[in-house]
Amino acid sequence: MPSCAICIHPKHFSIDKLLVEGQSERTVAHQFSVSRDSIHRHKKHIDLKLLKARDLNEMLEADNLLGQIKHLQREAYDNLELAKGERDVKSISMALREARGNLELLARLLGKLQETKVVNVLISPEWLSIKVQILGALEAFPEAKEAIVEALQTHTDGEDELEGGTN
Ligand SMILES: [Zn+2]
Repeated sequence: MPSCAICIHPKHFSIDKLLVEGQSERTVAHQFSVSRDSIHRHKKHIDLKLLKARDLNEMLEADNLLGQIKHLQREAYDNLELAKGERDVKSISMALREARGNLELLARLLGKLQETKVVNVLISPEWLSIKVQILGALEAFPEAKEAIVEALQTHTDGEDELEGGTN
């Protein structure tokens, strides 16, 4: 069954998304370092998935949002780096607040996705890498790091309640 390299690719959701959005096979193949042939073959599988996945739209939307948040977060890091370089305490705390806001947004997005089960496959790798980046960037700011870890835990605790009546 899993003879398709793309179907089992860790980033297949992102690949699907680009293909659904009309990106060329060549571009997508290049971006994910896979062969153009495999992308071509995989395209047929997406049509099937489209029929099956009621949540695809929601998924793409979420993925898009995630991308935007990641972009914002990258900017926040840039600001943070700048502020750190200038030893500007006010700007540092502003950048941290910004980063934290993004993170909260992300947590909310994750919570929302959690309701639609498609979730973890799509989000986890991205999410983990963001989390690692954030915590890494906050290494020099133990207080902020602690606050963020706490915020993340609050979110995780809330998940069980959300899971509620799925059976
Ligand atoms: Zn496939």
